[in-house]
Amino acid sequence: PVGLGAGGDARARDLDRHVFHSWSAQATPVDFVLAGGSGSWVWNEAGERWLDFSSQLVNTNIGHQHPRVVAAIQEQAATLTTVAPSAAHRVRGEAAEAILDLAGPGFDGVFFTNGGADANENAIRMARLHTGRDKVVSHYRSYHGNTGAAVVATGDWRRVPNEYARGHVHVFGPHLYRSEFWASTPEQECERALHHLRRVVESEGADSIAAVLLETIPGTAGVLVPPPGYLRGVAEICRRHGILLILDEVMAGFGRAGSWFAHHDEDVVPDLVTFAKGVNSGYVPAGGVIVSAPVRATFAGRVFPGGLTYSGHPLAMAAIVATLAAMREEDVVGNARAVGEQVLGPGLADLAARHDVIGEVRGRGVFWALELVADRATREPLPAAVVGALKADLLRRGLLPFVAENRLHVVPPCVITPDEARTGLTIVDAALGAL
Ligand code: PLP
Repeated sequence: PVGLGAGGDARARDLDRHVFHSWSAQATPVDFVLAGGSGSWVWNEAGERWLDFSSQLVNTNIGHQHPRVVAAIQEQAATLTTVAPSAAHRVRGEAAEAILDLAGPGFDGVFFTNGGADANENAIRMARLHTGRDKVVSHYRSYHGNTGAAVVATGDWRRVPNEYARGHVHVFGPHLYRSEFWASTPEQECERALHHLRRVVESEGADSIAAVLLETIPGTAGVLVPPPGYLRGVAEICRRHGILLILDEVMAGFGRAGSWFAHHDEDVVPDLVTFAKGVNSGYVPAGGVIVSAPVRATFAGRVFPGGLTYSGHPLAMAAIVATLAAMREEDVVGNARAVGEQVLGPGLADLAARHDVIGEVRGRGVFWALELVADRATREPLPAAVVGALKADLLRRGLLPFVAENRLHVVPPCVITPDEARTGLTIVDAALGAL
């Protein structure tokens, strides 16, 4: 394997004390070194390997070190490594064209950002200017990013220490396993969540609301696949009141949920779509907003007051063009769907049948969560210390997991083979058995 540095993991760990880490208490040492990867596998400097069931932060959809994407970045680096956003650049145009082709009819432009948070930030800015309204409604169970407005639009705990942006209103979305609506069927959960949203919109004053911003499938919150009809119902409420629907596909998009965009399976057409992560698997940071024709028209003769130095960065754009071409030619999205239907879905259901600690299995494609509980009847979450021990055991057994609160998310690269997926399930089975 490449990436094996002189001095090994101890040196990497030692140097890491100079790094200020995100979402962490700084005194807690990082216990894990990564040095290289290929496909669905990663390794440390000592050559110890792990099957990547996390896709890092659920972003390496095309797997690690895809040769075609690496070559495209190298080639672009040899030609032009940076260019101001105001200049036309062929590769940026190609990236926008490729994304619009996938988005389908009705969309008419792509605004490029450096990642997902600034994509949501700019989508909110577009919606406010397009509608002349201020408020943004989003779910409590959500994550939209870590910039000023995006972090306040976020519904989970990360919002609270950052609450200084304006006009954000939160609602509970559907989540039958932990229903806020005393529902016992998906139909009831859907109907009642829509009623709740409708009442909040009316009570806030529909004329004051610029946008409803939702993850198509809330990811970090627990892969909360919405019940059939929920997103169509949201779109209908938005349409009736002239509110824009912004769908955040940062985590769910580009193959993760077994389709190019998760909302394509829900039969809804949003006004703005935000993306990042899987668009180029994070090989070079990139994100953006896919803009509908009417929103673009708002800015035909009016300046759009937003921009970033690295909007449409050439290395990121070359990585997008190569990633999307390789994903199409290798049917990476079809693979994600098939592995979900044939291996992960049935395999995780089998684990749930044999391990009482699994309260619920949710997901599709390569986008799954296991809800871990101390008691199936009360659904009490498994304590953090036990989840921590499970995570450590999975690492010892050669699997790199993604753990959030009391959940194990099963989110491998979209290129994972059926055999690799089975290997991962066998490791999870053994670790759950040892709990
Ligand atoms: N939106 C969603 C759904 C996400 O999952 C994330 C990150 O996990 C973001 C936005 C923020 O993206 P970034 O970290 O690239 O700013």
